[in-house]
Amino acid sequence: MNALRRDQDIQLLHSQTWDLLIIGGGVTGAGIALDAASRGLKTALLEKHDFSGGTSSRSTKLIHGGLRYLKQFEFKLVHEVGTERAIVHRNARHVVKPERMLLPIVEGGSLGKFMTSMGLWVYDFLAGVKKEERRKMLSKEDTLLQEPLLRGDVLKGGGLYFEYRTDDARLTIEILKSAVEKGAVALNYAGVTDFLYEQGNIVGVKYLDALSGMEHELKARRVVNAAGPWVDNLRRLDRQDPEAARPKKRLHLTKGVHLVVPKERLPLQQSAYFDTPGDGRMIFAIPRGEITYIGTTDTNYSGSTENPHATQEDVEYILSATNHTFPGMKLQASDIISTWAGLRPLIHEDGKDPSELSRKDEIFISSTGLISIAGGKLTGYRKMAQRITDLVCKALGNRNECLTKTLQVSGAAFDSDEALAKFVEIQIGEAKQLNIPHKLVADLVSKYGSNTGQIIEKAYECFPGLQDGRAALLEAEVWYGVEHEMCQSLSDYLIRRTGRLYFERQHLEGYYQKVATAMAKQLGWSEQKRLQEISDFEAEYRNAVVFKH
Ligand code: FAD
Repeated sequence: MNALRRDQDIQLLHSQTWDLLIIGGGVTGAGIALDAASRGLKTALLEKHDFSGGTSSRSTKLIHGGLRYLKQFEFKLVHEVGTERAIVHRNARHVVKPERMLLPIVEGGSLGKFMTSMGLWVYDFLAGVKKEERRKMLSKEDTLLQEPLLRGDVLKGGGLYFEYRTDDARLTIEILKSAVEKGAVALNYAGVTDFLYEQGNIVGVKYLDALSGMEHELKARRVVNAAGPWVDNLRRLDRQDPEAARPKKRLHLTKGVHLVVPKERLPLQQSAYFDTPGDGRMIFAIPRGEITYIGTTDTNYSGSTENPHATQEDVEYILSATNHTFPGMKLQASDIISTWAGLRPLIHEDGKDPSELSRKDEIFISSTGLISIAGGKLTGYRKMAQRITDLVCKALGNRNECLTKTLQVSGAAFDSDEALAKFVEIQIGEAKQLNIPHKLVADLVSKYGSNTGQIIEKAYECFPGLQDGRAALLEAEVWYGVEHEMCQSLSDYLIRRTGRLYFERQHLEGYYQKVATAMAKQLGWSEQKRLQEISDFEAEYRNAVVFKH
């Protein structure tokens, strides 16, 4: 996935008829690309923005069994995503890590002591949770010892259980890199604008290369629409399908917002999943490095899908719930250092509120052969991909079995969490002469896993010309982003490949200009283009920190 080989990739896309074209480079599309390519299908993927630029960089970033779905009696869903949790962890250890979660039980809360205990037990059972990670119920005193910041007057006890934390955008890119290693071709900034038909069947697409402004055509035997919140736009574009204008089932978008505060403003001992007063919902607070993030909201959304953002109302909702549960913190809007907002592509059900809508995925096949998939979860991406690829393989007469259950994604070549920890130590040793803090190396491994060695090696190559190890590492990490992860813009790198806008915002001042200089050198940008990139990133930065009505 080399940004410098874009022209060759485009030529390759035109050189043949593909077995499968996937529209959308979020986690769903990436998962399908990996499954299909590993079964030997000639697979291409087009993404109109950057990979994971849609919902797949804007979630709560948990690989979870969906405890709250128990309240909706969605046992099958809990079982499926719970089982998948373990598989996703095993196949992507460096980006999917166990996370201890505390669920405080409060007077008037949505779950009482008995229901929480039962719920967590059923959850452990349905999700097949391993022994050492099973739930533990706590007395009021023990809950307060576990988390002294909790409000004591209404506390009745608590439940400790395990979820898994991820970086959704990194998970997506690692899956996609694996798909490309297996022979798929993936292109970002390539939006599908129309379908090609023969005798009423879709046989390819037209797409716009946003970087050159050129329109191209691509031929494929099957086309899958994995466009997340934009699934219905593509279904409407399928004009030879009589149902396109008025589909029986349609998407229902809801918006979810997260707020980021410095760790010292909400220094939790572990993640917490707590009640919001008044509406029966629950939200997460998740400590991560130097920050804690809190979310999410769930509100109907009908605005522009291109750039959803946090409003003052969203901010007030999350802050008020957090201050209610951790009253000593007295969090204010001025404590917020970053935010993100994402759209859930759910399936509409008449008369249901946003939080009541099912998170199950559904597949629609049009009379023209367009296969669309919507709904679902990050956690269930592999299973969704398997269902779609099974369908495509059946149609194409490919009998190969799904291999992804045991397929480690790029960067995840570790047999155990202990092997991952050992690898961190080895890399710290390897980076010794660069004289950089150990924490920087550990952070690199949590992003790039077993590929970290390539970055450190490159840093040594850059080192002789540069004055210090940190500067060499910056060059090397940018090089990896450009030549191995198809970074085309400053925002691709700072937001989606490294998560720095959300998780390291405090250190961005002065840093992003240096990254822009390194990218300009590596991608051959003019000075005008470099300044434009900085200004585009600053607009995204403002979007993350300014709350509008
Ligand atoms: P997307 O990631 O949106 O990808 C679709 C892609 O299609 C986009 O990148 C878009 O640019 C592209 N596209 C659109 N039109 C075109 C076109 N014409 N041509 C080419 N490309 C196109 N799930 C969990 O498991 N755990 C969680 O903790 C969790 N938290 C969540 C919190 C929030 C606030 C939200 C909103 C969702 C959360 N989810 C969670 C759900 C999960 O994030 C989504 O189910 C998942 O990311 C959807 O991925 P996707 O690939 O289907 O969609």
